[in-house]
Amino acid sequence: MSSDAVAVEVTGELVTRNEVILSTGEFDRRAHAMRGYGYPPGQAIRGAFGYLFLAAGLPIIKTYEVNAEPVLYFKDALPYHHVDGGILYPVITQEKYVNYQCQKCRDILRYPSFKSVITKTRLDRYKGTVSMMWRQEGITKITRFRFRIIVKLKHEGEENLAALIAVLRFVEENGLALGKRSMKGSGRLQLEKLSYKLITGADIEKRAAELRDKDTIRVRLLSEAIVREKGTNLTVIRGNNFLWSVKNAAKNFNYDYKNFSAGVKLISYETSKPYPLGFLDLKLSGGRPEIAIPKGSTFTYRIEPGAPAEFYTALALLERCHGIGNRVSSGKGEIIIE
Ligand SMILES: [Zn+2]
Repeated sequence: MSSDAVAVEVTGELVTRNEVILSTGEFDRRAHAMRGYGYPPGQAIRGAFGYLFLAAGLPIIKTYEVNAEPVLYFKDALPYHHVDGGILYPVITQEKYVNYQCQKCRDILRYPSFKSVITKTRLDRYKGTVSMMWRQEGITKITRFRFRIIVKLKHEGEENLAALIAVLRFVEENGLALGKRSMKGSGRLQLEKLSYKLITGADIEKRAAELRDKDTIRVRLLSEAIVREKGTNLTVIRGNNFLWSVKNAAKNFNYDYKNFSAGVKLISYETSKPYPLGFLDLKLSGGRPEIAIPKGSTFTYRIEPGAPAEFYTALALLERCHGIGNRVSSGKGEIIIE
């Protein structure tokens, strides 16, 4: 791979300024309330930026079209441990629950953030009555989250980067509005500590060299993954599915992609019950929700000897920039290789 810039990594911190209501669309019978996410998933942040690109009339919005090649890869806004600021990574417990482990003190937490049930009413101003009442889980304490976007530089990279920077400046000044009732003032997050880092071919090759020394790799999902094969959502990522994703990362980020072959075999895995996940485009087209492989799942693969250098370059790209499976530009399938 050439030493040219591959991508720009935009990082920062999102801080809640008031309640943030990110509905999952499911009803919790015990709490008698709609469930809410414990932190903003990549698709929520992508949606909010899409709205801003559209409002500003920026052509980057075309990269949001269903069949367009993505340019911006929005990652889940993983929370920081309130005690020491360590980032919380999802893990699967022995009882098969998704918990969160602080990468600083190694403590395992059951919940990624503090949520409580918010009760809201809807007023009928004509009749002068309370027409409806709803209960919804929301993030109600000040929480800090990791903000991360990967900007691909392959096609019209500079123009897209300029558009993103313009909108990021706006967000730094005005905050980001996320989730339900954000039109009414809820769901305000402040963007702080924004920084830009160039990811070069040399950075990718350095990581590729480290990965080459391993004959088995353990892949941890930092976000849910949606992996399809012949139109069906999979619940286990087999070696061939993993290899497909590795090649896909290289295709998406490399100008000079050439096909390669490598022997990748799934030897063990640890996961939990898959669950349905709705997306706006599916809702609009009347499609069924996708089935997601839970975050925190791990898959261990054996790499057969003789895998070409291109394989490891692609593997490093998958980890740093891309992700496993589908909808990676919405934060799905983010991984680390352990
Ligand atoms: Zn900690």
